[in-house]
Formats: sequence, C-alpha cells, structure tokens
Amino acid sequence: MSTTATGGELADVVSCAEAGGWSPRVVRWPRHSLVVVAPHADGARFSGMAGVARVVGSPGPHFLAARDFRPGSTVVDVGGHVVGAGTFTVIAGPCAVESREQLAAVVPVVASAGAVLMRGGAFKPRSSPYSFQGLGVEGLRLMAEQRRLTGLPIVTEVLRPEDVGLVAEYADMLQIGTRNMQNFPLLQEVGRCGRPVLLKRGMSATVQEWLLAAEYVLVHGNPNVVLCERGIRTFEPSSRFTLDLTAVPVVKRMSHLPVIVDPSHAAGQAYVVAPMTLAAAAVGADGVMIDVHSDPENALCDGGQAVTPPEFKQLMVDLARVLAATRRAVT
Ligand code: PEP
Ligand code: MN
Repeated sequence: MSTTATGGELADVVSCAEAGGWSPRVVRWPRHSLVVVAPHADGARFSGMAGVARVVGSPGPHFLAARDFRPGSTVVDVGGHVVGAGTFTVIAGPCAVESREQLAAVVPVVASAGAVLMRGGAFKPRSSPYSFQGLGVEGLRLMAEQRRLTGLPIVTEVLRPEDVGLVAEYADMLQIGTRNMQNFPLLQEVGRCGRPVLLKRGMSATVQEWLLAAEYVLVHGNPNVVLCERGIRTFEPSSRFTLDLTAVPVVKRMSHLPVIVDPSHAAGQAYVVAPMTLAAAAVGADGVMIDVHSDPENALCDGGQAVTPPEFKQLMVDLARVLAATRRAVT
C-alpha cells in the first residue's frame, strides 16, 4: 500500500482478496503496510485500487524476501551505519563477551582499524552444556559501555523469544544464530521487535529454507534483515564448516536483502579467516563478521578461530585492496 493509504483503502484490498477466495495477510512495516495474498493470487484485480502503490508477483515461495519485491535492494540502518547499497560492513569483536578488560583489549583496536559494528555474545548457544554459556545481561552492559567509548553499535545474539525485549534494549542489531534459524517463535518475536536482524544460515539449511526464515521476520513486521552465510555441514572435516560462498551471488539474485559472510565460524581456524574474508569481498558480499580476541589461547569460546588485533589490522589493509578491485571500500 502507499505510505498515504487510509485504513479504509487497506480494508478494501483485504475484502477484495477475501472475495477472490484468498486469505490475505496484512503486514505492517514502519513506513507502510503490505497485503500478502498467497499463494498465486491474480494480482491484476488489485492494481488500480485506491491506496495500492504496487502489485508484485513472486515466482517462488518467498514474497517479501524475493528480489522481485524490491529490485533496488534493501539497505539496513544499524545504529546509524548503513548495511547494503554498495557499502562493505566489517563487524568485529570477540565470540563471547568475557570481561571488561577483554572487550577493552579488542573493541577500540578493531574500531580504529575500520570495523564499524562490534560483535560479542552475551547469551551463547553452546553445543555442550558444560561450555561457557555467556555473561548474560552483564555481557550486554559491558558492550554498551564499549559502545559509549568507541561509538560502535552492538550486534549480539538472542537465544530465546522471551529475551528479545531485553536484548533489544542494549543491542542495535539482533543476531539469530545458525542453531536457531528455524526457531519460528524466535523469528516471529524478532519480527516484532523493531531492531534490525542478522539472520545466520542454518548449518544444514538450503538457501530456500534460509530465505523462508527471513520471510518469517519480514512478515511479522520487520523489513530490516541482513543475511549471514556462516558455513554449512558437508562431508569435509578439515574445516569446521564449509563456507558456501556460492550462496552469496545466488542469494543476491534471489533476494533484495544484504548478505554478509562470517568466515570465522565457518573456518574454525584463525589462519583460514583472512583468505576467506578476501574471498567474501571478491564474490560481492555486503560485509563480514570476524571473531577477534587478544589472547585466543585462553578464550572462553571459539579461541581457535579468533584472529588477534594485529592480525585483524593487517587483514583490513589487505581487504581494502580487494575491495578497491571491486570498486568498493570499507564503509
Ligand atoms: C556466533 O556468531 O557467535 C555464533 C554462535 O555463530 P553461529 O550461530 O554461526 O555458530
Ligand atoms: Mn563463536
């Protein structure tokens, strides 16, 4: 619907869809409403109706995430920083927030090297119940302190639907981890939360399942979704996961949503992170998310894949050269 459509005009479109035998769904985005009439409604009957801005068809099962829906590509504002639109976003920080000192040893350094968003897990989805589970709210507070000091907005994971409100009080972007990509109640809740969402690909999810997970967030009222490829399970054990860089151009053709890459969680080993970061830039990703720790050997989570602050600085220098070749810059 157009941004000036009235409630009556919206109701007329809904009635028209119902009269055609479809079950329309009204989606309220911050600037305007949408009426999703699935599956395969005859769009022609809606064009020309008062308040209708555009009628968009979709050849696939996802409508709002489909490229046809927004040919110009989505741009997501994260705490004043723009993701998408030809920019290249670098998100960096520790896998898990461990202490004030640990964050202080990493966040200011990555900020001065060019990272524009900070990452850090306060609520950690650990495979083993005996592993460090994160500092919880205290971790969020410590990140907020670093945001005040460095200006970097916060990207952090939320694990449970009932924590979305709490995490959204501190975070500028809510991360949905690979293990939760198909946690539908969680997707619905972040759809309603008003904060941008970083949606990681499930480690065993197809591209279509990933886009349908994004569709859940979009249809529950949140247009600000960034996708993150983080590696998938294959038969190959020499890296933690297999980074599916093919998915970047594939998803960009299928969807208007920005796509970033997490080489750290895919690699599982620090020496693989730099080459895969450069590769992500070369294949057209909209950014990367990188684990950085000043003492990887003693990290409480995922130390093996963390690069050190000096390694990160060198990586940023090399990255600028690859981006220049693709006529982009770290922004
Ligand atoms: C993370 O980024 O901290 C994380 C747990 O990643 P993933 O969900 O991709 O494993
Ligand atoms: Mn991790």
